[in-house]
Amino acid sequence: MQTAYDIVIIGAGPAGLSFASAMIEANIKVLLVEKNSLESLSTPQPDGREIALTHLSLKILKKLGVWDLIDQAEVSALKEASVFDGDSPALLHFKSDQSTVDALGYLVPNYQIRQALYQRVMQANNIDIVTDSTVEDVQYQHTHSEVVFADKRRLNAKLVIAADSRFSNIRRKVGIPALMKDFSKVMIVIKMNHEKSHKNTALECFDYGQTLALLPMVGCASSVVLTVNSNQSQAILAMSEQAFNKKITQDFKGALGQMTQQGVRHSYPLIGVHAQTFIADRFALIGDAAVGMHPVTAHGFNLGLRGQDILTTLVKEALEQGQDIGAKPLLTRFEKKHIHLTRLMFFGTNGVVALFTNDAPVVKQVRRFVLKFAEHFPPIKYLIANHLTEANKGLFKPVERLLKKWPF
Ligand SMILES: Cc1cc2nc3c(=O)[nH]c(=O)nc-3n(C[C@H](O)[C@H](O)[C@H](O)COP(=O)(O)OP(=O)(O)OC[C@H]3O[C@@H](n4cnc5c(N)ncnc54)[C@H](O)[C@@H]3O)c2cc1C
Repeated sequence: MQTAYDIVIIGAGPAGLSFASAMIEANIKVLLVEKNSLESLSTPQPDGREIALTHLSLKILKKLGVWDLIDQAEVSALKEASVFDGDSPALLHFKSDQSTVDALGYLVPNYQIRQALYQRVMQANNIDIVTDSTVEDVQYQHTHSEVVFADKRRLNAKLVIAADSRFSNIRRKVGIPALMKDFSKVMIVIKMNHEKSHKNTALECFDYGQTLALLPMVGCASSVVLTVNSNQSQAILAMSEQAFNKKITQDFKGALGQMTQQGVRHSYPLIGVHAQTFIADRFALIGDAAVGMHPVTAHGFNLGLRGQDILTTLVKEALEQGQDIGAKPLLTRFEKKHIHLTRLMFFGTNGVVALFTNDAPVVKQVRRFVLKFAEHFPPIKYLIANHLTEANKGLFKPVERLLKKWPF
């Protein structure tokens, strides 16, 4: 490890690794710091997350040279999606428009994405990776930023990128406030085999008291996503396999036949985060450290990829023009290009969660009306589908422009 780098990235999760991938072959020295072990990076284990990638994310991963490193036998095309409310038949149904795109999105196991990103970064000559190391602080020193490690080592960088998760300690140390939303819910994810075909259709059932989702994986298998109140999660995690299989088969009303658990149940407490600003002097936030989404709209990593793409494009432009890559105008442009959409997604998603997880009779009426309206009013449905899949990036530009005056 040198004592000075052009860029130091804190956190080698999917966002930090994506940023590093984009810097391969740039004429600069980059350091990626990860507090976990080298083994956890090089051979990430399945964590139950099936990441629904949008068309824009697919494009970015291809540009990064990462898509081809993902085992394509594990990629499942998401062709249709249905939303149910209570016992109602499907209220909202999306289908890929075969004339323009072949799928709404693509499901890829999270560990596959992490592995492919790591393999790509490993090919670089200009990127050093240091593991089992925790960054404790970042201090601005005008011409550079100083990165302080837990073991008191220090080094300098022209630009520091924090991709250290939604609970980012560095964000707090740099003095950036964040809005945190504790949903008091736990998401339990598990791969299950089933007798009947899922027909590549995702299901989202706002079944009173819990939310049940199914993401179609390759073959007769799906990722089952169960969202319950925090106080109910322990009992579900502790269920025997037999009792759990019976519960999930019944919850899906036998639509997919007998369902059988594969592997282990993983649980994630649901906490959303949005940083007040994404930048400070010679410093930027990306990934969940900037915006940590509720997973219901499947946008966390998609927004992380989008953010790093915006920032790395600006950094490369600055390098070509011989400009300072940590300069304030560059960072301000990054924030302006990214933060309006993340706010729209963050508060929009939280609004959807509030509407769909409240079982008060009047709220149930409102959501049935909303779903029916969206289903029978094609322009709204088209806008929602396009925004979720990012098949047409420009559609929400007018809304983003309006949000530029947001008093957050
Ligand atoms: C159940 C579930 C389903 C999801 N589904 C989807 C989906 O369908 N689509 C989608 O787009 N997104 C989805 N997401 C979100 C997605 O998983 C996250 O957005 C993404 O993993 C965030 O990546 P990250 O790199 O920003 O953060 P993280 O993955 O949290 O990585 C942060 C890294 O920083 C390291 N670190 C932390 N602090 C330090 C420090 N001080 N020094 C050094 N290293 C440090 C950590 O060890 C870690 O490796 C889902 C999330 C969940 C929980």
